[in-house]
Amino acid sequence: MPKIALIVGSGGFEGQEGFAEEWRFYPLTPFGWPSAPIKVGLFNGVRIALVLRHGEGHTLLPSEVPYQANIYALKMLGVDTVVALTTVGSLDRRFKPGDLAIVRQMVDHTNGRPSTFFGRGIAAHVVMADPVCPHMSDLLYQTAKFCGLVHIRKAVETALHDSAVLKVMEGPAFSTGAESQMNYRNPLPNLIGMTAMPEVKLFREAEMRVVYLAIITDNDCWCERDVVSAGLVAENSGKVSPIVRKLLARVLVAFQAKRKWLARRKRRPDRCSCVSALDGPAIATDLAHISDGVKRRLHPILKRRLALGSKEQLPSISSEEMCLERLAHSRVRPKLAADMQQQ
Ligand SMILES: [Zn+2]
Repeated sequence: MPKIALIVGSGGFEGQEGFAEEWRFYPLTPFGWPSAPIKVGLFNGVRIALVLRHGEGHTLLPSEVPYQANIYALKMLGVDTVVALTTVGSLDRRFKPGDLAIVRQMVDHTNGRPSTFFGRGIAAHVVMADPVCPHMSDLLYQTAKFCGLVHIRKAVETALHDSAVLKVMEGPAFSTGAESQMNYRNPLPNLIGMTAMPEVKLFREAEMRVVYLAIITDNDCWCERDVVSAGLVAENSGKVSPIVRKLLARVLVAFQAKRKWLARRKRRPDRCSCVSALDGPAIATDLAHISDGVKRRLHPILKRRLALGSKEQLPSISSEEMCLERLAHSRVRPKLAADMQQQ
């Protein structure tokens, strides 16, 4: 089973060089269906789960992406490390269209999107001071450096920035000129996008390591002679995709080695804290007051924490849950899954 997932914006890697699909996974989760069947296969020799965030053929708006279902399905698969791509606009002259950036911090300006797995019988508050995994982000940067992709603009057209602050807006329309000017004059966000929130919060709640690689496609519209459009985003995204694919091939191999190393050191104090985000007081609800229904609904997410923090056994799985489990571990054909979705 894959331990690493790759989330892409619009199927840029579907059926393309580097990814060999083996089977698909399309479970009905308690939070609905994922954006599209999750493809499991080999990318440069590393088995990964590939998620098309906007669905097959890019049918979902950023506000419509079922972030909870996508991450829940990855958790069911046993994925613990995720590389997420996101196309963004620049709000900073240093971050030029065609560059890449590792997102280290985010500002959430979305509204109304479901941003938690919790509620309805269980309260939890995870720490988001570092919204992405610092260890894996460092490794991504080191790998890019090894590939010669770091700030050598004189030698290559694409540079990779080690640290960026991403503002996530609701969309789907791009910013107005005044909004873009305000963001441009604000020193904090370097980039603006539409999809990384609440996704990154859900990854933390699901105790998964995630890194965000931003593909900078435009200058938003703070610069009058360079106004963002969907065409410009697609064009510039296409230009940089061969470099992204090359970088991902190296990064996934490095991540596979790193996560094995981290797993071997699981009792050491320097263990990556992303995978233990629900430890300690993060779950505010008294464990004795968490109902069997909640435990069943959030089984993949609570499994580790309840096993560590409580002696009580997980409730037996109902016939409905058995069905979900079977779906989870079967190679569901897209046709069958689509039929079930219509019912
Ligand atoms: Zn981490």
